[in-house]
Amino acid sequence: MTTATTLKLQVENIHKRFGSNEVLKGVSLTAHAGDVISIIGSSGSGKSTFLRCINMLEKPHQGRINVAGEELHLTPSANGELHAANPKQLARLRTKLAMVFQHFNLWAHMTVLQNIIEAPVHVMKVPHDQAVDTARKYLAKVGLQGKEDAYPAHLSGGQQQRVAIARALAMEPEVMLFDEPTSALDPELVSEVLKVMKNLALEGRTMVVVTHEMGFAREVSNHLIFLHKGVIEEEGNPSHVLSNPKSVRLAQFLSGSL
Ligand code: ADP
Ligand code: MG
Repeated sequence: MTTATTLKLQVENIHKRFGSNEVLKGVSLTAHAGDVISIIGSSGSGKSTFLRCINMLEKPHQGRINVAGEELHLTPSANGELHAANPKQLARLRTKLAMVFQHFNLWAHMTVLQNIIEAPVHVMKVPHDQAVDTARKYLAKVGLQGKEDAYPAHLSGGQQQRVAIARALAMEPEVMLFDEPTSALDPELVSEVLKVMKNLALEGRTMVVVTHEMGFAREVSNHLIFLHKGVIEEEGNPSHVLSNPKSVRLAQFLSGSL
């Protein structure tokens, strides 16, 4: 078996509601090794909720989640949501799904290095010195060597997001989940983050990226999902889908009128 066919993430038929608001109505996604999947859609279409359901930051009401061939054991709660039957399994699978958020979510009271080694040392029990070596390696990869001792507040938004990416990489995840990683950035800082993400894609990392960057979606990802009101309206090869949308709603979204 070649790595190109290794299944990294299979998410099936996710349903999620908040009260009576049905936000996800059966959303599925499959990522093989090296796949870069972009998810686009209007604000409120359920993109973040879907990403958060993948690592159980939100509890779905229905669905299946398989990470690198391992099925997450889910069991219903009294309120109708599913929760992890085995917290240890969830914790382990979460380390394989590193998430990068819109607002970076770095710990303000920790240096760059401390931010990056925190989870490897305390969650994954990697020896401290090894975690520091790994942190340095990934800081260099995102172009931030020498920033180990800086605090987040002293970095630009683009640098903070690159630290967040280095922190995600330090988990050596199977899949990286990005939720609009450039949406909070000043326009002139967007490209430095997209460049790092493009390099990760070229290295063969498996990525699921919620984005408004159509250029990135077209050029870097190999699969595009258009989410509308909690349903996949259209999906497929990014250039095909973007150049020739079949769905009227996607055409409207792309022309800025949705
Ligand atoms: P997107 O990321 O595509 O903008 P979201 O997944 O954030 O969309 O939100 C989808 C819908 O779910 C919206 O109607 C939003 O108000 C609702 N929603 C999201 N999170 C919560 C929450 N924690 N509690 C209640 N409603 C929520
Ligand atoms: Mg969102």
